[in-house]
Amino acid sequence: MGRDLALNKPQILCGACIVPPETPDNPQIDDEVFCPQCKRVDTVEKAMEDANRHATHLASRALEQRMLQDGHAVRTVTPTRAPIKNLRWISSLPQ
Ligand SMILES: [Zn+2]
Repeated sequence: MGRDLALNKPQILCGACIVPPETPDNPQIDDEVFCPQCKRVDTVEKAMEDANRHATHLASRALEQRMLQDGHAVRTVTPTRAPIKNLRWISSLPQ
């Protein structure tokens, strides 16, 4: 169970420090993640939620960039290029 969670979870980074948090070896959903630099603490569940939101943000931004390259007008699309500032945890997917 915990093993599956560990395999499926995205790599999480602290949104402020961009460093991997300390997590238990076999994290459960209500365990805590802890940033060694700014000392923020959240549950694995909350951190994964933010990281997933960030991953979605990166995906929509990549789509928007592809549309730009294809020459489509994107002026009507809500800009997603601005970084999300209110995420405490982010995904380590390539930006
Ligand atoms: Zn931090």
